[in-house]
Amino acid sequence: MQHIKSQKAALKVVVFSAQPYDKCFLNQISQNHFPSLHAEVVYHITPLSEESAPLAAHCDAVCVFVNDCVNESVLKLLYEQGVRGVFLRCSGFDNVDLKAAEEFGMFVARVPAYSPEAIAEFSVALMLTLNRRTHRAYNRTREGNFNLGSLLGFNMHRKTVGIVGVGNIGLAVARILKGFGCNLVAHDPYESDDFKVLGSYTTLEDLLRQSDIVTLHCPLLDSTKHLINRDLLKCLKKGAMLINTSRGGILDTAAVIDALKSGQIGALGLDVYEKEASLFYVDRSSDIIHDDVFQRLVTFPNVLVTGHQAFLTEEALTEIAETTFQNLQHFADGSECRNALVGGGAKTVK
Ligand code: NAD
Repeated sequence: MQHIKSQKAALKVVVFSAQPYDKCFLNQISQNHFPSLHAEVVYHITPLSEESAPLAAHCDAVCVFVNDCVNESVLKLLYEQGVRGVFLRCSGFDNVDLKAAEEFGMFVARVPAYSPEAIAEFSVALMLTLNRRTHRAYNRTREGNFNLGSLLGFNMHRKTVGIVGVGNIGLAVARILKGFGCNLVAHDPYESDDFKVLGSYTTLEDLLRQSDIVTLHCPLLDSTKHLINRDLLKCLKKGAMLINTSRGGILDTAAVIDALKSGQIGALGLDVYEKEASLFYVDRSSDIIHDDVFQRLVTFPNVLVTGHQAFLTEEALTEIAETTFQNLQHFADGSECRNALVGGGAKTVK
């Protein structure tokens, strides 16, 4: 194993899409738990793109989030400037061209499983809000309107919930919903014994036919892009609720809008949106939003959209920061990194 950088040399890291909470948690973990890494961390609120890539000039690594663009041309620009590591502060890696990173000999690592309960609990919060219409009740009582019209919900107890993708998050959702007394069905190409004690596996079509609520927890891959499309939506039980806290691209949004109009979808909860990169994480309340599909979505009374915030708990941010610095430590000292997506063996900083 070759160490070109000495242990004492600073590891220069540029954090893109850095919100104040990222800075706070990353700084805290760096100072308290990784002082020997001597990390020099620079924060930019701007997302990583071809335009912003020069901000990483002469740095060793970039640290990115869900909507940063890490395609081949961005990786090329980063590589030419000396960057050798890409550190995701998330589990999904659909925004990174892993093949290109491998060709450049770069190191890419992620945070595979931070606080799955954070996302699971948020998914259930969307279900309960849409079901019992607490978002509408909140507005009504603030305006002195105590009429209960259109606020009729249903008991979760004994309803069937279909979970698409039973990994860390899907399993955490299943465990919570078991406590509500729901019947659970799931679809996943890889079956797990942990789920089999809570419910049963079935095909995606059958899951859609049976479920009163469908919740998506699979990753966005080529094979899952528009997994929930116009044809499959025809299998959905009329009026069922659909929840997506995974990645926007798993749903065909145009087909979903048509299914809302026809009443095939009875309620929709989204924490993610196909074209969220040009909208989320910025205050656009004084802007004219040009995305007409998004604007149509938010006009439905039975649709609740949040701006990719399911991860936003103290516990999740702490784990993201800890794992990110562990990954950086492996990158710096060349030790094996089990969270690496590319180049996880003996890699050095430069
Ligand atoms: P995971 O890898 O533990 O689980 C994903 C599961 O999906 C696996 O069991 C896998 O076999 C399954 N799967 C793959 N292809 C499938 C298909 N075609 N149909 C059904 N299942 C399929 O991942 P996780 O930690 O549970 O996270 C799931 C996703 O949640 C991530 O990929 C990410 O996109 C998203 N996420 C969102 C937030 C947020 O803040 N909204 C935060 C973290 C993760």
